[in-house]
Amino acid sequence: MTDKLVHQIWISLGSNLGDRAAQLALARTHMADTCGKILRVSGIYESSAWGFESDHMFFNQCLHMETTLPPGSLLQLILGIERKMGRNRNGRGYTDRVIDLDILFYDDLVIQSEHLQVPHPRMETRKFVLLPLQEIAAGKEHPVTGLTVDEMLERCTDTSRIEKIIS
Ligand code: ADP
Ligand code: MG
Repeated sequence: MTDKLVHQIWISLGSNLGDRAAQLALARTHMADTCGKILRVSGIYESSAWGFESDHMFFNQCLHMETTLPPGSLLQLILGIERKMGRNRNGRGYTDRVIDLDILFYDDLVIQSEHLQVPHPRMETRKFVLLPLQEIAAGKEHPVTGLTVDEMLERCTDTSRIEKIIS
């Protein structure tokens, strides 16, 4: 029997359209059905749209999962889930979205390809990513900087207001 290697991944989920809690729940179901086992789930945080003007507040959450998928296949599957859930990528730059799924960490891998950068390059500057991530990965070290999630949050200068709304 050949064992498939199990990898640790941390995923960020975001939604600012429709029933946001329901979209996050549906995305978690799709992730568990197609990508691997969910090990830990953070609470849900609400924040204003970041990097673009919108009347719609975001719900954000992070997951710790294990997967046997290689990074490229994982990315294709999460992009497929976004499409299936009605994500529309017509706009340029940041826009409202029913669901956004980002790979934050994949083991301690560093990937710099055109379509995939891991660790996610903007995680350090986004409190709406770091706060939920801290709940499930406080001591996890960034493979490039060596900073833990706790340390990234201490250094993060993002001043936007974020409120934990669901534990
Ligand atoms: P953002 O998540 O920064 O708001 P988008 O979701 O619109 O931006 O960008 C999606 C694109 O980002 C995808 O087509 C994918 O190829 C690329 N991408 C690069 N690195 C990652 C990553 N770590 N996780 C998810 N998507 C990524
Ligand atoms: Mg994304």
